[in-house]
Amino acid sequence: MSAVFQNSTIGALIKDESFSGTLQNVYQFQPQLNFLEKYWAAWYVYMNNDVLATGLMFFLLHEFMYFFRCLPWLIIDQVPFFRRYKLQPTKIPSAKEQWHCFKSVVLSHFLVEAIPIWTFHPMCEKLGITVEVPFPTLKRMALEICLFFVLEDVWHYWAHRLFHYGAFYKYIHKQHHRYAAPFGMAAEYAHPVETMTLGFGTVGMPILYVMYTGNLHLFTLCVWITLRLFQAVDAHSGYDFPWSLNKFLPFWAGAEHHDLHHHYFIGNYASSFRWWDYYLDTEAGPEAKAAREEKMKRRATRRVKKTI
Ligand SMILES: [Zn+2]
Ligand SMILES: [Zn+2]
Repeated sequence: MSAVFQNSTIGALIKDESFSGTLQNVYQFQPQLNFLEKYWAAWYVYMNNDVLATGLMFFLLHEFMYFFRCLPWLIIDQVPFFRRYKLQPTKIPSAKEQWHCFKSVVLSHFLVEAIPIWTFHPMCEKLGITVEVPFPTLKRMALEICLFFVLEDVWHYWAHRLFHYGAFYKYIHKQHHRYAAPFGMAAEYAHPVETMTLGFGTVGMPILYVMYTGNLHLFTLCVWITLRLFQAVDAHSGYDFPWSLNKFLPFWAGAEHHDLHHHYFIGNYASSFRWWDYYLDTEAGPEAKAAREEKMKRRATRRVKKTI
């Protein structure tokens, strides 16, 4: 019996042959649950196998959310009106490039990501990641997700910076840099070693968090992974609009930040935020280079003055 209800007799009462029947029973016997909690509970009770229910849900969530978020960018690339917002306006991805990328990403999803997804639930159980309804409060989920964004960004900055050194770049990260002008779907176009290493930032950070706190809900993880996928696809979109998030949150990286990384192959290593590159002098692009040189000049002059 599923662990979605603390009291297993509720699960037994709700179970039906069909998903719609199970859902109807949830509506009847658990009316206090919200809309999403009802579907969540019905899914786990209907599947009657939490390992399969979590594995299948994560795999489908990943596929759906990733390609769903890529779709608007595919359309925008075909509309000349949006060219004015394209960061590298002369470089529109061809259908051939997009098709190659699509095939490679789907293959990688099945080969590299399918196995961890299927073994995820047993690990969740061990760590104390719960599937129970009701979900945690919105405030708690929002705080946890903000923390995951910050932690993932730390991991991503250092791992990505390492991937730009010698053999790491040549044998692993070079694949991701095939597209100097990236597009949405290129977000997960990467060598399997890179997918797993950078994926640790997304999945491993919540694991470290639950190891420390002993408390995390799987639904929070679903929302976090969805938002992280959106962030990655948007950062590769190649478009910077007047209404992009970085215009309202100046420390948010966005497409403008990551597009420069693909253009110049160096600098702007962080994923979501600008602070690591700013404070560690690794910002990409000619403007950042000029600012860096100016800063170094000022420092040198100050040092000379001190010694005089
Ligand atoms: Zn890179
Ligand atoms: Zn990239």
